Order: sequence, then C-alpha cells, then structure tokens
Amino acid sequence: MTTVMTHAALGLTLGQALRPARCGPRYWLACALLPVLPDADVIGLPLGIAYGDLLGHRGLSHSLAFAAVLGLATALSMRWREGRGWPETRHLAMLFILLVASHGPMDMLTNGGLGIALLSPFDAGRYFWDWRPILVSPIGLKNFLTPWGWAVIKTELFWFGPPIALLLAATAIRRRIARKTCPASQ
Ligand SMILES: [Zn+2]
Repeated sequence: MTTVMTHAALGLTLGQALRPARCGPRYWLACALLPVLPDADVIGLPLGIAYGDLLGHRGLSHSLAFAAVLGLATALSMRWREGRGWPETRHLAMLFILLVASHGPMDMLTNGGLGIALLSPFDAGRYFWDWRPILVSPIGLKNFLTPWGWAVIKTELFWFGPPIALLLAATAIRRRIARKTCPASQ
C-alpha cells in the first residue's frame, strides 16, 4: 500500500481544491479519512481472511464500486446531519467518491504485494500500472518504523510531493483571482 499519510494528504488537497461553500470539521475529517479507509481491510489478516480473497487486503475495499457506495453514503449522511440541499449533496457525493476512488490507482503504483481489485466484485482480477515507482509500504506500525518505512516516505515525498504542492498552489492562485474578480466569492 501507499502510506496513510500520503492518501490523507491527497484527500485534504482535493478537498481544498473542490471544497463546497460550507465546510466544517466534519467535512475536513471526511476528506482526510475517506482516502485512507480502504486500508482498513488489513484487520482481516489476523482474522484469517487471506490477502487474495474478495475481502482480503487490496480486494473489494479498493474497488471503484466500494468508492461509489462509501462516497455516496458519506455525502447522504452529511446531508442528513447538516441539512444540506441536493446540489451541495451532489457536489459532496462526487468529491467523496473521487477521494475513496483515488486509493486504488495510487496503490497500483507500488512495487510489491498483490495487485488491486479495482473492478471487484465484477472482476476478480488484481491490477498494477505498468509503471510502479512507489516502494510498497510495510503493513503494521512495528514494520513501518524501520529503514524500509523511511525509504517508503522518501519515495512518496519525491513522487507525490510535487503534484500535491502544485495542486495546492494552483488552488490558492485560482481563489485569489476569483476574490479579485468577485469579492463575494471564496
Ligand atoms: Zn491500499
């Protein structure tokens, strides 16, 4: 897998770039957690669920179908809790689906483990990109606090750091221009 920090950083960056008019702590928490949640499937390993099973690591939870269900459910839950209208809910649903869906293609850049069941449950295939520059992250904190974990952080900073910084800068510039053009906008 790619590390939790990188998935969360991308989620917060996309959340900033595509944020709706109203965004409180619940919104930012969703942006940080949604791209990370597919990796909650590792709890199945000590419970005896095999890595390659449908519910195993990088299985159904890493699919586009799971992203659609989780993203939509989160947006509907925020609509219900915060009294948001349908246009805002639709915006949140598309963003949240994108955030969860970002996880699988990022993991497909890693150089180890089994591939990603991106099209599960319709296709049991496990996929990688042809180009895989990201060192696969070890599973578990104990394994992460090793030279291997440090090497993973370095490769992720190298490959994901610049695009994330660029997207943040482009968002800031776009907002600055929008404020100058229309002072009431964000
Ligand atoms: Zn993963």
